Order: sequence, then C-alpha cells, then structure tokens
Amino acid sequence: MTTGTAEVLRPGDRGYDDARQVWNAMFDRRPAMIVRCRTVQDVAGAVRVARERDLEISVRCGGHSAAGFGVTDGGLMIDLTPMGRASVDPARRRAYVQGGALLGALDDAAQRYGLATTAGNVSHTGVGGLTLGGGMGWLARQHGLACDNVVSYELVTADGSVERVTDGELFWGLKGGGGNFGIVTGFEFALHDTGTEALVVEATFTGAARHAAMRRWRDEHLTAPRQATFTAWSAPGTLTLGYVWVGPGSFSPAFLQGGAVTWQPMSYLQLQRREDSSGRHALRRYGRSHYLKSMPDAAVDAFIAAGEHCGAGLQGYGGAIADVAEDATAFGHRDTMFEFGAGSSWTDPAQDGARRAAARAAAALLEPFAGGVYVNSLGDEGAAGVRRAYPPAKLARLTALKDRYDPDNVFHLNQNIPPSAA
Ligand code: FAD
Repeated sequence: MTTGTAEVLRPGDRGYDDARQVWNAMFDRRPAMIVRCRTVQDVAGAVRVARERDLEISVRCGGHSAAGFGVTDGGLMIDLTPMGRASVDPARRRAYVQGGALLGALDDAAQRYGLATTAGNVSHTGVGGLTLGGGMGWLARQHGLACDNVVSYELVTADGSVERVTDGELFWGLKGGGGNFGIVTGFEFALHDTGTEALVVEATFTGAARHAAMRRWRDEHLTAPRQATFTAWSAPGTLTLGYVWVGPGSFSPAFLQGGAVTWQPMSYLQLQRREDSSGRHALRRYGRSHYLKSMPDAAVDAFIAAGEHCGAGLQGYGGAIADVAEDATAFGHRDTMFEFGAGSSWTDPAQDGARRAAARAAAALLEPFAGGVYVNSLGDEGAAGVRRAYPPAKLARLTALKDRYDPDNVFHLNQNIPPSAA
C-alpha cells in the first residue's frame, strides 16, 4: 500500500493496541488498518486507499468523541496524532495548527507570546474535533468560539483532493458542521492578546441556601463582564457556584455571599490543564447534555435535584458567542444561556447500566427547559441528537453541502449529516 510517509499498523503489530485506544473505554474497536499520517499527502493517500478497498473511514485527532467516532471496527482508521504541531506568528497574531494537534500544543505555542485563542478546558482534547463542532472555552465570551477564530482550513475532501478554504459555503459549514465534509489537516487561527493570568473563584453551598444562591448566580450571569464565565456544579447535598476569569482584574459578584469561598489565581496554562484527567483514556464514560436558553426558578430547582443522580454542571454562554449572527456559521444555538451536562466515569463494566441510567435521569429533569444541544456533547443519540444540534433550516443547508462535498457519505463516523440520497 502506498500512503507516502505514513506508518501503517495492522492487528498484531507493535503499537496497534495503543493507537486504537480512544478516550472512552466503552469503545474497544479493532480497525483492519491504522494509518498514522505525517503529511497532508498521507491523509489524501489514506482516503483514496480506503475508498479503493471499500473500507469504512474513521478520523482520529484527540480521540475524545463520547461515541468513540475516532476508531472504526474493521475499517481504516486515519490517525492524525503524528500531525500534532502548532506554531505561532506573533506579529500577525496567527497560529498554524496541524489537524491532529491537541489543545495543549496550541495553548503552549500561543502563550509564549502572551497570546491565546479560544480552546476547550482540557488540554488533551483534540483541536480537530473540538473546533469543527464549534469549540467552547474560557475565552469564548471574550473572543467567540474556537470556530469563530478560524481564518483558513486545509482540507482533504472525499475524493482525496486538497483544498484551502477561506470563505464561501464550505467555510460556513466547517464552522460547526463537524467532520462531515472532509479531513482538516491544518487550521489557521486568529490569536488575541490575553496575557497569561487567570482566576478560578468558587463558593460552596449546602441545604436550603443552595436555591437562593443559585438564583442570584443566574441573574448575575446576565450582566457579568465577558472575562467571567460562570460555572455551577451540583452533587448530592452540595452546590458549587463560581466563575472562571481570564485576564487581569476580577469582580466580586453577590452570589458568593454566604458560601465557603475559594479564590485560586493561576496562570492561563494552569487553568487549561486544571481539568485534565489522570485516568486519560482508560475509563468508561457516559453523559447527557442540553442547551438552556433561559433558566426559570423551576430549572434551578431541577439542576440542584439532578446532582442527586450524578454530577451535573453548567457553563455560561453569551458575550462574543452571541455577537455572531445565528446564520453566520453552521454552529447552532448562539442564544444559549448555559450548557448543562450530567455524567460520570467508572472502570467496572458491570456498572454500565446504572451509570447510564443515572445520567439519563439527571438530564430528564432539565429536559423541559432544554433548547437544543451542543453537537460536540452528543454521544449515542444518533439522528435525533443531530436534529437537536442544528435547527431545521441549518440542517437543510448542511445537507445540501454534504450532497456537494461527500455524496457517498464517506465521512460518516461522526455526528452525521447524511446526504439527501441516503
Ligand atoms: P476525536 O474522537 O478524535 O474526533 C471527534 C470527531 O471529530 C470524530 O468524528 C472525528 O472524525 C472528527 N475529527 C477530529 N479531527 C478531525 C479533523 N482534523 N478533520 C476532520 N474530522 C476530524 N468541547 C468544547 O467545546 N469545550 C470543552 O471545553 C470541551 N471539553 C471536553 C473535555 C473532555 C474531557 C472531553 C472528552 C470532551 C470535551 N469537549 C469539549 C467535547 C469535544 O469538543 C468533543 O469530544 C470533540 O469531538 C473532541 O475532539 P477530538 O479531536 O478530541 O476527538
């Protein structure tokens, strides 16, 4: 097989088992071959080989897909992880990031110059999957989602050709439409002068005090400075309310009063690694999520109750995310107030049923208040989940784009937008 400089691994080869492992240990799939790509030509070659041999393609960047989409059973896995470099031009305020890079590589390269762009909260998440689905992070209220900061894409399409995409309909679709239209081998990001400082503030409440504190927290989110991203965490009997601040300064919201408060100043790079998991890619995981466009008092009560089933969290949206017009990108639901998520991780497969049920029970409590979902938070919801992620007009536009760029649905191991003929 000719795939340029790529390393090809088959079952039994040294490194095969490590390369097929993804973040969610619920998925133990065995590709017929893993093509570890080093160049854009390797990726294009791998696409052509898969198509010639009629092998299902999976594309792996950080491997964080909750549904394990990075790895195929019996097909050809395009492993982008050897393409993990990020470099920065500080004068132009641009980052050039390969399609297999992790967020940590982007943050490290940019922070050398006191620069950053929006990236997610865990440094071992892939730039690829996160950015193609939207990309939420602590800078999003100041500078927009990760996808809003992409200036150009280098893309390998379903026929194995390479395009640079800087505008037009495909550019629109790559900003939130996931990996449906091709394999991105290079992202060019706009960077911002963020400095290197960050702060995490949290206040813990118990018992009846939780409800009043959370209503104050909800109300203050609406007028909070854009440097602040509000957070909440509900667990049995305990509610933690807080905010993450990026940049110099701070503020003192009233919701902190009456709670046990901690102030944790840290560097931006420490913030970006604070939620890294030591379990990495060895735990079984399940979660459910919703977008909330408003949060009436009944939703506050439901969130506190959800924490009795399993850990439940909220992260604030608004600011620069909502400045971008809803139809300007494929990403849906820019008017979101909070993203809700509930879930857990464990090791014993005997717990699978109970853990799934707990996450579903927690999410069901918030369902009456839900207004869509973040595509990158979907797991096994299938087509119904994709319909929640993209409002109907947007899904129709994405389907037309899929018809044009991938009519055979070569790229379907993702939150799939099937072509209209499927
Ligand atoms: P992969 O499993 O490698 O890929 C996910 C999907 O994207 C697959 O369908 C894959 O084929 C496709 N894909 C990946 N790279 C490319 C590429 N270069 N070209 C074409 N298709 C590609 N999301 C946020 O927005 N903000 C967060 O802070 C955040 N935190 C997270 C923390 C953890 C621990 C986890 C597990 C997830 C988090 N997410 C977050 C969700 C995350 O954005 C999605 O799971 C995303 O799909 C992960 O991308 P990946 O590249 O790591 O995963």
